[in-house]
This record gives sequence, C-alpha cells and structure tokens, in this order.
Amino acid sequence: MDTSFILNEFAEEREQYFNAVAPPIIQTSNFAFSKVNDMRAAFSNEYSTYLYSRGLNPTVDMLRKKLAALDSAEDCLVFNSGAAAIFAAVLANVKAGDHIVSVQKPYTWAQRMFNDILPRFNVTTTYVDGRFTENFEKAIRPETRVIYLESPNSWDYAIQDLAAVAGLAKQRDIITICDNSYCTPLYQQPIVLGIDLGIQSATKYISGHSDVVAGVLSGSSQMIERIFNSEYMNIGSGIQPFNAWLLLRGLRTLGVRLERISATAEKVIAFLKGHPRVERVLFPLDQSFDQYALAAKQMKKAGGLLTFVIKADKLEEIETFCESLKHVLMAVSWGGYESLIIPGCAGKPAEDFDASDPAQRMIRLYVGLEEPEYIVGDLEQAFTKMQL
Ligand SMILES: *Cc1c(COP(=O)(O)O)cnc(C)c1O
Repeated sequence: MDTSFILNEFAEEREQYFNAVAPPIIQTSNFAFSKVNDMRAAFSNEYSTYLYSRGLNPTVDMLRKKLAALDSAEDCLVFNSGAAAIFAAVLANVKAGDHIVSVQKPYTWAQRMFNDILPRFNVTTTYVDGRFTENFEKAIRPETRVIYLESPNSWDYAIQDLAAVAGLAKQRDIITICDNSYCTPLYQQPIVLGIDLGIQSATKYISGHSDVVAGVLSGSSQMIERIFNSEYMNIGSGIQPFNAWLLLRGLRTLGVRLERISATAEKVIAFLKGHPRVERVLFPLDQSFDQYALAAKQMKKAGGLLTFVIKADKLEEIETFCESLKHVLMAVSWGGYESLIIPGCAGKPAEDFDASDPAQRMIRLYVGLEEPEYIVGDLEQAFTKMQL
C-alpha cells in the first residue's frame, strides 16, 4: 500500500458519514443493541463489535487500521501513552519466573518497569549493550521469554541489528519487541525486519503538534487480539476518540513534516559540526556516527532528533547557553512543530557535575518545523552568550 493512500484514504468510509472529508469523532462510551442475540454476541467476543469504548470505538478503529498498515502489521492497538503500550506488550508476554533481555538504557519508564515493577512478580531483566548482537545471545537463558529493543535509542542513538536479533530470537521462541519512536514506520519497519511487536510513542511524530499523549502497539492479529482481551481491556488505557481524531489529523502531514524536519536537521548538524563550542555531534545517519553503516542499512532517514557535546569547563556555561535560547524551547518530548533542547546535566544534581565527562555535556536537540536559519540563528546567539 502506498503511504499516501494510507494517510489520505485507507479505512475511511465517507459514505457512512455524509461524505464528510474529515472523519467524525464518535465520542460515546457505549453502543446500543436492538436484539438480545446481538448483545450476547458482543459479550462473548468484545473484539468483534462495538459494545463499550474501553474496547472498540469507530474513530479509534480508523486510526488503528492506518497505523497497522504503516507498520506493515496485521493489526495494532492504540494506547493513551507510549508507556502504556510498552507495559502491555511486555506484561502480555511474561509470567513469574521468566527472564527478559533488554538493551541498555531503554526509555525511562521501560526501565522502571523492568527494575521496579516486574521483579515484584519474579520477572527479571538483564541489560546488554545492544550494538553487538552476540551480547543478546550470551545473555539468553532457558527462561528468557522477551528481548526488548529500542533502535535507535533517543539520547545516544545506539542501534541494534534488528533482523539479526529477530533471527536469533525466532530460533528460540523468544518474543522481540522494538520501540520505534525515533524513526516512525516511515523511516524504519521493525516488523518487516522480523520483529514481533513494534511500539511507537505517538506523542512524538504521529501527533506532531505537541498536544496529544498516545502510543501504538503493532503485531500479528493473533498477538494483538490476545493483548486486547487481557492487558488492553484490563489496564483500560486505550486512546480516547478525540485524541484518536487528533492523531488521524496528524497523520495527514506526517510524511511532509518528517521530510522537512530531516532536511532541516542536516543543515543544523552542518552548523553544529563547524562550531568551535561543539566537541561532537551524535546522529545515526551522519557519516561520523560509529554505527553509520548499520543505520544506513535498516533506516531510510532519521528525522530531527540529535545530540551534541558542548565544550564547557563549568556547569554555568551550559546553563547560560540553554537559558539564552530565544526560540528553541527547553522541554521534554519531541516530534512536534517546535524545536526543543534538553541538557543532559538537568538529569542529575548540580554539585555532581563533572566537565571532564563528555556525557554530562550532552545536549539533546530536536529540530522542528521552523526555518533552518531561524533555528541556527538562535543557537548561534546562545553560543555567543556562553563566552561572556
Ligand atoms: C516518549 C517516548 C516513549 C514514551 O511515550 P509516552 O507517549 O510519553 O508515554 C517511549 N519511548 C521513547 C523512545 C520515547 O521517546
């Protein structure tokens, strides 16, 4: 299916709603029946019909069909956050005594789940440096049920060879889950590479306007139906119809936004690489990146998230740089219209700052939809303030 067809037409049945071009928001909690037999059928299989909006809802279904098609997956579920999608995907595939192998430093709330929640149910996790496939092989035990991936990572862009890891997991009946928020299915397709479950934080590029928190979980019909009937219904964190409608709206411009953002990121990277206050730029599709070959093999493009190491002897210099930006906002998240930064040093107490450690001088920059010169100009003037 063409991407344009998925984004513009697929799953839209306009004759059912007055030929309106924009889809309706079916903002209802429940659906009525005229026959007891129909209600009975709905009770016996909630995945087959509209009964109650914690389960299926028509606006959400339209979104699900489009997102599954983008992922080249048979089916998907949309949650009220990426974190909920991660939690459901993992919970659905482990039981007491099981073991998980995860990449080092996955998304914060994936780590919290592995470190704090799952051990309460006797599910343990081993973290490995996922840049080397053999590390997964070494960490696998007879009780390993899940391999958890995030490629690229959203700070240092460490990448896993998705096809290779999927291959070794399949031989051992281990479920592979990959967080694909960085690339979106437009730029990387984990399921096509053999991964069982693809996850995205739809809060990022799918929404694209910094006004929705949501998450996508894609996989086989069998797996997704099983998760619907257990974790999805029980956790009860499915996306609400209005937010689903906002994501449908975001999808209309996903391709064009990503293209613009990728092109602007290239210009911003060229500026940063030439700036005397920048020690290093990390970006998976930059030729200087240590896993560039693998990135180029499994990713089409890389979008707008990058990290640079700023040259500074004191914490105050980094703080001055960040606080001097006039347009680029200092905020978490990414994938919206607006450029953002997060200084790594905000993640630990100021007194622990050590300038000799480049990791502590990292600044994550998300390049948004602004004119490239506008972003570069703002960074440039903030670098100048730093020298004062
Ligand atoms: C934001 C993010 C998540 C979590 O998604 P939410 O929608 O915030 O719950 C998961 N993984 C990555 C890589 C993210 O950037």
